[in-house]
Amino acid sequence: WVKESGRSAFRFHQPRKDVDLLSRMRLDHAMRRALQEHEFRLHFQPQIAVESGALIGAEALIRWRDPHRGDVPPSEFIPVAEESGFIVAIGQWVLHQAVAQAADWLKKGLRVPIAVNVSALQFQQPQFVDTVAQALRAAQLPPELLELELTESVLLRDADEALHRMQALSELGLQLAIDDFGTGYSSLGYLKRFPIQRLKVDRSFVKGLPGDASDKGIVNAIVQMGRALNLQVIAEGVETDAQLAFLGECGCHEYQGFLCAPALDPRAFEQRFKPDPVVGTTPAHDDAAGP
Ligand code: C2E
Ligand code: MG
Ligand code: MG
Ligand code: MG
Repeated sequence: WVKESGRSAFRFHQPRKDVDLLSRMRLDHAMRRALQEHEFRLHFQPQIAVESGALIGAEALIRWRDPHRGDVPPSEFIPVAEESGFIVAIGQWVLHQAVAQAADWLKKGLRVPIAVNVSALQFQQPQFVDTVAQALRAAQLPPELLELELTESVLLRDADEALHRMQALSELGLQLAIDDFGTGYSSLGYLKRFPIQRLKVDRSFVKGLPGDASDKGIVNAIVQMGRALNLQVIAEGVETDAQLAFLGECGCHEYQGFLCAPALDPRAFEQRFKPDPVVGTTPAHDDAAGP
């Protein structure tokens, strides 16, 4: 169990912004094998109420340890999978895995809504809504325990079709969130029209808090707008107490970030958040995570 040992020289080629076609094809091939060989895992990052410190949900984040490449970050393979179309298969696996985990936790007395990232290509599949309905049925998960994170790019291509589909998803009873909010190009009008419940403030704006005046202005504006529209606002990438304090002051409802925890494997997540069967409370591993 030496964590760093699986890494190859592959990882030292920096920057990897423009990976050549051959490497992308190799990576795509490796992903297809990885899915068959069960090399993908889901980790779960806690989402926390700013005021009470209570657990309000968890975001499912995919993890891949390739036998040769070592840990491959999603920022490396998700774009390649989106390009090749394989993201549809990966997304399907993630969805099933995530609802199965939520259902398992519910059985064990840990009731935690799970947020799942959905790629634009996946969302555009004609059978997407059916796929989601079927996943919920298969796991017998109450739909309100599933949230789908969509990016603004989903809304761009065909807004009417997207609206239609989001309404159908809403009717299933699940929650919808806009991920990486503020980084896309879409008009603010959709916030009014689309049946969403939550805005996720992109990490890039949280980073400069509380020192950077522009970031302060942007985050404050997003929070106030979200509140005015009756949306929950969650900040991502919160790493410091000072960032959290600023978010509290401007009325941001929730946060996730290394300050509380990175994405945890299911066992670590359970150990930290599963209610104690004897006293029926959350174990107080740290002060911020108390009930
Ligand atoms: P995202 O959905 O915006 O996820 C948040 C990313 O920020 C995650 O990176 C998470 O580990 C990281 N993060 C969380 N807290 C902190 C923090 O305090 N500081 C810093 N520096 N980073 C933090 P990750 O897991 O590497 O995922 C990157 C992106 O890959 C995700 O961004 C998402 O767009 C995509 N992704 C991950 N899993 C999936 C998946 O299952 N399906 C799809 N379609 N995309 C996924
Ligand atoms: Mg996300
Ligand atoms: Mg995000
Ligand atoms: Mg982000």
